[in-house]
Amino acid sequence: MKIENNPIEIEALRLFEEGKTEEARATEAEFVKQFREAYPSGGAHCTCEEPCRWHGMCKECVAIHRAHQDHLPNCLKPIKTNEW
Ligand code: SF4
Repeated sequence: MKIENNPIEIEALRLFEEGKTEEARATEAEFVKQFREAYPSGGAHCTCEEPCRWHGMCKECVAIHRAHQDHLPNCLKPIKTNEW
């Protein structure tokens, strides 16, 4: 499954921005449904290549980055640098 620039989620954001909240939420729910089907468990959704014991454990990974305030989790860095 393609996560970055996913057309379903892009459409959900567009709907949110147009104030079509219920339609946006339904569209976003479809993205999440497909995501959960594509990645039922494990860390295969994680793009980080660092040898990290928290690979794929987003809750812990994000908390660690929030705590040390050094940088974003690797999967989110391209948003800041516009690499997508
Ligand atoms: S938040 Fe962390 S664990 Fe989750 S996908 Fe991004 S880099 Fe991987």
